[in-house]
Amino acid sequence: MLFSQFSLSATLLKALPASITEPSRIQQLAIPAILNGQDVLALAQTGSGKTYAYGLPILQRISQTSVLSLAAIVIVPTRELAQQVAQNLQPLAQSLGLHVEHACGGEAIECQIERLTTPANILVATPGRLLALAQQGVVTFSQVQSVVLDEADRLLDMGFINDINALIAMMPVGQRLLFSATMPVALNSLAQLILSANHVRIE
Ligand code: AMP
Repeated sequence: MLFSQFSLSATLLKALPASITEPSRIQQLAIPAILNGQDVLALAQTGSGKTYAYGLPILQRISQTSVLSLAAIVIVPTRELAQQVAQNLQPLAQSLGLHVEHACGGEAIECQIERLTTPANILVATPGRLLALAQQGVVTFSQVQSVVLDEADRLLDMGFINDINALIAMMPVGQRLLFSATMPVALNSLAQLILSANHVRIE
């Protein structure tokens, strides 16, 4: 299978690193479902290609809806992952004239507020900092169409459930994507709560 078989723009595909030629299994299954607007629950290890599995279709969808403000949120457990995801998505976003930003605890919030004065279309963030930015009115979720919980099992392990519930409650009902290496009971409960009944499950 080839990336060109998905309904992804040629511009976006050209921005992929040259080493990425064949979609991984998770990409083959997740990309069409996400492009279709469906909610997804995906069991995906680091190294499975999960970042492009959600990043490519989310960027494609944003570029089609001509949204100028914040349209997608990726919630991650750690600063390292936030930086890595933002770095991977940046060239792809840029190819479509879209802007990715990241925000996490441990960095001066003032710098993040400054960076966010240029509105991001995708924000990759850790839960506590995202909540603080939302509560201060620095970011608004009214135009958010997709939200990803990446490494969702680690998000729960690290005790972020209350922050996540608060964030989800602030967002419009849109597309919800849950990526996790494991599926503990607590995550199953969260999935039942936030995913639509007809979500696609990928294992
Ligand atoms: P991830 O699972 O998103 O953390 O990705 C792990 C690594 O796999 C990253 O270095 C990606 O650049 C790489 N990668 C993602 N998709 C593919 C693919 N289809 N073919 C080869 N490498 C990939």
